[in-house]
Amino acid sequence: MQTQIHAGIITIGDEILVGQTIDTNSAWLATKLNEIGISVREILSISDKADRITEALDRMLTNCSLVIFTGGLGPTKDDITKHVLTHYFDDTLILNATILKRVEEMFRHLNRPMLDVNKQQAMLPSKAIIIENDLGTASGMWFTKDGADVISLPGVPFEMKGLMEKIIPEFQKKYKLATFYHRTILFQGIGESQLAHEINDIEEACAKSEIAIAYLPSPGIVKLRLTGTKEQSGIMEQHFSLMQKRFEGQVFGFDDDTLEKVIGKHLSSSNQTLSTVESCTGGTLASRIVSVPGSSSYYLGSIIAYDNAVKSSLADVQPEIISTHGAVSQQVAEQMALGGAKRLNSHYCIATTGIAGPDGGTAEKPVGTVWIAIASPEKVYSKQFLFKHNRERNIELTVVYALNFLRRIICKTND
Ligand code: ATP
Ligand code: MG
Repeated sequence: MQTQIHAGIITIGDEILVGQTIDTNSAWLATKLNEIGISVREILSISDKADRITEALDRMLTNCSLVIFTGGLGPTKDDITKHVLTHYFDDTLILNATILKRVEEMFRHLNRPMLDVNKQQAMLPSKAIIIENDLGTASGMWFTKDGADVISLPGVPFEMKGLMEKIIPEFQKKYKLATFYHRTILFQGIGESQLAHEINDIEEACAKSEIAIAYLPSPGIVKLRLTGTKEQSGIMEQHFSLMQKRFEGQVFGFDDDTLEKVIGKHLSSSNQTLSTVESCTGGTLASRIVSVPGSSSYYLGSIIAYDNAVKSSLADVQPEIISTHGAVSQQVAEQMALGGAKRLNSHYCIATTGIAGPDGGTAEKPVGTVWIAIASPEKVYSKQFLFKHNRERNIELTVVYALNFLRRIICKTND
C-alpha cells in the first residue's frame, strides 16, 4: 500500500521577512519532496522567535505528518530553533561526542580557534536522530512524535541541501511512496498560451490518464513538465515524440538541457568554434556560454563592442555604415558578426546590437529593438526583434533569442 505523505516547510529567519534573503530553501525542498512523491501542503516563513516557531509547528502538525524547518541553527544567540524544538519535544540537550569531535576537527582543519559557542553545536537533543553535517557545524535533527516527523536543518542553502541528500533515501525507506516519473520538454520561440492552445489534445489525454502537466515559464523559454507514475512512462514518451514532431524547431531539449548546453554539444561534436561581439548584451551572452563546463573547447572569446568606436576598431564595422544606418541596424549587426568571426578566427560569431532602455528609443526604433546577426562559414544571418520590456529583461531576452538563433542554424531546423 502506498501512503500519501503531506509535508509542511517552515523557513525561519528575520532576514527573510525583511526581504533581505530570498527564501530559495523552500523552493528547493518543495521540488525535491515532490520529485519523490511527497506533496507539500504548506510553506511558511516566520521570524526567529520562540512563540512563532511553536505556534507554526502546532498548526502545521494538524494537517501535515512531516514538517521540515530550515534556519536558526547557528551558534549565535539569535539562533534558537534547536532550543525551542528540544523543549517542544520534551527533550534535553546532551553533549554528542561524535559531533564534538567532528566540530573540533573542522576547526583544526580551518586553523581557527574553537570558541565555547562552537562547542555548543555539539549539545544536541538526546532523543532526536542526529544527521551529521559534512559542510558546516550545525547538525540536522530528526524528531518523531505521535507518528509525525519533524526535521530541523541549517539555513545555509548548501548545508541544507547536503543534509537533505542524506535524508531523502531515509524517507524512501520509511514511507511507502509512489514512484513518480518526471519529464520536461523545453521550448523556445513559442509563448505559453500559444503552446497551451496547440497541445490541447495532449492536455486532454493527460488529464484522462491522470498525468499532471505543469508550465514553467522563464524569459523566452517555456518548460512543460509531465508527471506520472513509472508505469505511465511509455505514454509520456509518446506525448513527447508527438510534441517534438509538432514543434520541430521550437523544442530545444529535455529535462536539464539549456540552450547553451545544446549549442555546446553540437559545436564540440562537429569541432567548430564560436565567438561573440556584444553591444547591448555587454558580456551577458559570453557569460552564459562559459557557464557550460568544457566550453573552452569551442568558445574562443568575445569583443564587447559597446561604443561605436569599438565596433569599428575591434570588429571592423565601417564608421559610415554606423552613421548611415545607426548602430542598431541590420548592416551594423552583420558587420559585427563578420568582423568578429574574422578577428577571432571562429566558425560562428554571434553579434548583438539593440536599445535595452529605458532611454534611447525613437519612434522608428523603440526601446527593445534588437538586431542579432550570426556569421556562419556559409553566410551571415540576421534578424530584428522587438522586446517590449525593461532593460534587464530586454538583455536577458536578447541572450536567449541569440542562443536559439544560433541553435537553429547549427541544428539546421527550419525557420
Ligand atoms: P548559521 O550557522 O550560518 O547561522 P543557520 O542555520 O543559523 O546557520 P541562518 O542563520 O538562519 O542559518 O541563515 C544563514 C544564512 O543562510 C542566511 O544569512 C542566508 O544567507 C541563508 N539562508 C537562511 N535561510 C534561507 C532560506 N530560506 N533560503 C535561502 N537562504 C537562506
Ligand atoms: Mg544563523
